[in-house]
This record gives sequence, C-alpha cells and structure tokens, in this order.
Amino acid sequence: MSGNRKEEASSAAFEIAKKYIPGGVNSPVRAFKSVGLTPIYVERGEGSRIYDIDGNSFLDYVCSWGPLIMGHAHPEVISAIREVALKGTSFGAPTLIETEMAKTVCERVPSIDIVRMVNSGTEATMSAIRLARGVTGRSKILKFEGSYHGHADSLLIKAGSGVATLGLPDSPGVPEGVALNTITVPYNDLESAKVAFEHFGEELACVIVEPIAGNMGVVPPLPGFLQGLRDLTTKYGSLLIFDEVMTGFRVDLECAQGLFGITPDLTCLGKVIGGGLPVGAYGGKREIMEQVSPSGPIYQAGTLSGNPLAMAAGYTTLKLLTPEVYKQLEERAARLQAGFERNAKELGIPVTINRVGSMICPFFTDAPVTNFDTAKSSNSDMFRRYFAAMINNGVSVAPSQFEGMFVSAAHSVEDIDLTIEANYNALKAL
Ligand code: PMP
Repeated sequence: MSGNRKEEASSAAFEIAKKYIPGGVNSPVRAFKSVGLTPIYVERGEGSRIYDIDGNSFLDYVCSWGPLIMGHAHPEVISAIREVALKGTSFGAPTLIETEMAKTVCERVPSIDIVRMVNSGTEATMSAIRLARGVTGRSKILKFEGSYHGHADSLLIKAGSGVATLGLPDSPGVPEGVALNTITVPYNDLESAKVAFEHFGEELACVIVEPIAGNMGVVPPLPGFLQGLRDLTTKYGSLLIFDEVMTGFRVDLECAQGLFGITPDLTCLGKVIGGGLPVGAYGGKREIMEQVSPSGPIYQAGTLSGNPLAMAAGYTTLKLLTPEVYKQLEERAARLQAGFERNAKELGIPVTINRVGSMICPFFTDAPVTNFDTAKSSNSDMFRRYFAAMINNGVSVAPSQFEGMFVSAAHSVEDIDLTIEANYNALKAL
C-alpha cells in the first residue's frame, strides 16, 4: 500500500468494540492510543504481510509482537495445527508432543535441563519468580527500569512496553507491600546493581533481566553487564533469571544466553516457542526446577498448559529454525539497518538504530541509547508522525517508541528494500 490508508471499516469496528471491551482491545498497545490513530483491524496475514478489513495491505514488522519468526500463516505451522485439531483441542492429560517439545527446548537452550510449559510470558515470569522466592526463602526481587516482564503485580514496577507507552509509572492495584519487594535499578548499570546488592543482597531472591532489553525499544546489554549480574547473584546466593520471552529463539538457536555465553539459573520463554499460539515456558537447573509441583512443593498449574495445538505450532516453528534461517534473518535485518541509517544521514534526521539479529529499533535521537532514560530522551512527537507516515506507506511497525521491529524469515530482500523506501518517504515527510 502507498498513499493514504483507508480506515472507515476499522474505525467503525473499533467504535463497536469499545462498547464491549475495555478500550476496545484485549491488550493496551493495540489501541494505537499513544499515536492517536485508528487501530488496524486485521483480516488475515500471509508471509510478510497483513491485510486489514479496509482492504489495505501492510508489510508487517510487528509479527504478533515477536512470535511469528517464520512469518504469518506459515504453511507447515498451519498444517501441523490443523492435523492436531482434528484429533481434539485439549485433554488436560499428558500427550506425546509435550515431551517432544520439552526435549527440543532442553537440547537447544544451554542452561535448561528441564522445562515447564505455561500459556503466556506473564505466567512464565510470574512462576519463575515464585520458584526463586520458594527455593531461596527470600522475598525481594531486582529488576531493571523500562524492562517488561509481563503484568504480574511484582513486575509492573517501573515497567516498559505498554506501561511506558501509556506513561503509567506503576499500576494502581499493585499493593504497596508487593511493590516494596521489587527493587529497580537502571538497565546496563552494573554499579547500581552492586549497590542494590550491598543494601539488600541477603534478601534478594533473584535478579530478573531481559538479556537484550526489548521493551524500551531494543537496548543490547553493554559488555560485562550480564556477566556482572551472574557474578553478583552467585556471590549473594540469589538466582539469575533471564527473561527470554522476546529473545528466546529470536536472536539465536540457543537464545540470547547462547549468543552471549552466560548461564542463568532460570530462563523464561514465550512468543516464538508458541509459533503464534499462546505458550510460555520456564526452565533451568534440574535441582531448582524439581522444586515445582508435583515433584516439589512450589505450586504452579494450568488447565490448558501444554495443550496440543500450541505445542504443535511451537514445535513446528522450532524445527523450522535452522542456522540458515538465523543467517538470513541477520542479513536481512542488517540490510534494513543500513538502509535506515543511510536515509537518516541523507535527510539529516537524528536517528540512533539499535539492533541485535532480527530485533531492530530506530530511536529519534543522535545519542546512544543504553537504558530507559536515554530511550525516553528520543523525540516522541517525531516518532508519532513517523509511525503515521509508515502506516500510510504500507509498513506496519509497533505503535510505540518503546517497542522494536521484528524481521521474519518471510521478509524478502524486495520487502526490505520497499521498507527502506517507505522509511525514506516517512523521514522526508517529517
Ligand atoms: N517478558 C518479556 C521480555 C516480554 O517481552 C513480554 C511480552 N511482550 C512478556 C514477558 C509477557 O509476555 P505475555 O504478553 O505473553 O504475557
């Protein structure tokens, strides 16, 4: 699509939805509130594109906020889902594919000996935190400003993603007692983490960290940051939890931990491992994970956990993810970055682009972006106008400066070049 987006049908659908669903949506950022536009009502997706109910088509870099690493409606994923669905959708009893899925995750992720499937990233992080508290007998947790780990109470403190996009500092409804147990320090600031450990070290059950931050835009870890957290947690007897809900199988076959060579105690997964169906997982060292019920006393359960449809979509996606796919993702995303940088330079617009593999994020600032404060210093008004122009040029990106773009295996070189052209037009219109 190029030229102006048609939006009559989406606009009418949104008005009706608002009567029945809070804000018209089932997850806040989808409402396009912070960019002041009508949300795109998707009719279908195929490969690198989505098609809306107004007849527009968009090259899509939201990819369902990360899961669709193979692109929309990948034929093998769809046929796996269809085959399984014909035999029944859920039993609440063990099925063989659950073990296949768990085995694949354990074989690929260096630190995971054993893994439990849940239904979302939120469930994964919430359960991992409970486990960390249970095994250490401690209550406090350390997280980083601008990181998002799902919407469990203790993790909504100074959170990124939609919480940051909507400018909500901490959510009402989180009891003070819960908030007091969440200590936050700036991302990439090992010195502050050390100070926090000096104060609270004996009380800290865990550190939870996105090994590549993806919810304040994309912010890679500075050299030594993750190793520093590994050393601190080991010294104080806290657990190190990598929240790889976004980065898991997105940046590497062995996740971010494989890329950086750091071994966490626990890992949270989601998004890609569900291949577009609702899945999360948490896993890690055997002696820790075996404290989870029924092998241990720390309770966690789920009516639909490990359900066959989600396992089929996730398992098929993981099998499709070969080293060649990651090589292609890297090449295409690097081409996108180079094109965006060329455009910004030619047009004299201050843009800093952060990227790790297929996670990429242009910030409207010429300063390096290494934490939430520097991410917030980017020009939000420019972002809003840029977003509107990208949509009008037929490219769907996340409606927030605090979210990255995801390149999928379905994005062709031609798609990337069209996106670079759209970016040029959008920047020029600023
Ligand atoms: N952790 C991270 C790093 C995430 O990016 C997200 C979602 N964006 C979550 C946890 C929560 O996952 P979910 O939305 O599936 O609950």
